[in-house]
Amino acid sequence: MSLEHSKLVAMAQQNLVPTYRPREQVLDRGLGSRVWDIEGREYVDFAAGIAVSALGHGDPDILAALSEQAGKLWHTSNVFLTEPPLRLAEELIAASGFASRVFFCNSGGEANEAAIKLARRFAADAGRPPEQRVILSFTGSFHGRTLATVTATAQPKYQAGFEPLPAGFRYAAFNDIEAFEAAFGDDVAAVIVEPVQGEGGVLPAAPGFLAHLRARCDAVGALLIFDEIQCGVGRSGKLWAHQWDGIQPDAMSLAKGLGCGFPIGAMLVAERAARTLGFGSHGTTFGGNPLAAAVARVALRKLSSAAVLGNVETQSRALRDGLQALDAKHSIFAEIRGRGLMLGAQLRSQWAGRAGEILDHAAREGLLLLQAGPDVLRFTPALNIGSRDLREGLDRLDRALENFLQAA
Ligand SMILES: *Cc1c(COP(=O)(O)O)cnc(C)c1O
Repeated sequence: MSLEHSKLVAMAQQNLVPTYRPREQVLDRGLGSRVWDIEGREYVDFAAGIAVSALGHGDPDILAALSEQAGKLWHTSNVFLTEPPLRLAEELIAASGFASRVFFCNSGGEANEAAIKLARRFAADAGRPPEQRVILSFTGSFHGRTLATVTATAQPKYQAGFEPLPAGFRYAAFNDIEAFEAAFGDDVAAVIVEPVQGEGGVLPAAPGFLAHLRARCDAVGALLIFDEIQCGVGRSGKLWAHQWDGIQPDAMSLAKGLGCGFPIGAMLVAERAARTLGFGSHGTTFGGNPLAAAVARVALRKLSSAAVLGNVETQSRALRDGLQALDAKHSIFAEIRGRGLMLGAQLRSQWAGRAGEILDHAAREGLLLLQAGPDVLRFTPALNIGSRDLREGLDRLDRALENFLQAA
């Protein structure tokens, strides 16, 4: 490790609020699905900034859109109109197949916060008292870190010590219709669900589960909210993950891949609730700024193309096959699951809790990888990753697993 490297790591340790425990590499530049650290070491990127850099690093079209807009106009606030967010809204509505309006913000947590406020106001407008405005979410979910979204996030580890949590949230086991029925009632204003759970371990909704939620929400006048912040915008192999089930939501939250690394969030809303958040009821200073919108327009166009979605299908199969081959060799995975280029490999029980160590070995072999909880390796490469990078990443994972098993 160079002096410069140790100095930067020390700066991180001294100056940042220690909410993260970053890996020891200091990354410097990227191109496609490869990244280099400040020492010049090269990595295959199977993480894509936690399912964010959906077109890899340095995509020329994204770069051109950003540079062009950066030379024109950065920010005007929402008091004045600019063209990029208006075009983006129209394009998102057309691509969504269900929405008639869009609210722009800057992150996933903010998009879900908007959806939760939408549901509360929708119920209030329907004459429901506060105790009948319950938001129902699922165990293992992840919806963000703001107080409301972390309360919707039904995982105690994210909530501990932040009590008192906001009232009016309830939980049911994911993919468990009986548990859902026990928790559901006509006091529920909205059900929020990830069509493919990300942080919770890369778990797709079981066949028929979303359809059941749709029917029950309709029966009591509740809104169905899909959190597609991680699984949306092409990651599942379809533009929207809910298209696998043929079920449409009343609201959908987006962020992560929508900006391919430039911060942007969006909440899309169907006609029945499209005017619920009226003038003055909600807002954000940066939401829908022209820089973010110019980038997201290119991202949406490219990520919804047949070329990219076709590549997701091809590389998803290659990645699954590769992981199966690694399991045949090392006997290490209990299950390989997920959709498109959002795959999870659950470690066999004797390796439970050791995903972090495998990630350390992977980084040493030149592979950037994620976990989803302590027992699952998570694969979220760029959606335009090529066969060579995918193969090379799998070869490096092979060596990392070998080293892990040797050391274990
Ligand atoms: C990342 C994520 C969020 C939170 O997004 P932020 O941009 O970190 O606020 C919410 N929901 C899901 C499914 C996510 O993956």
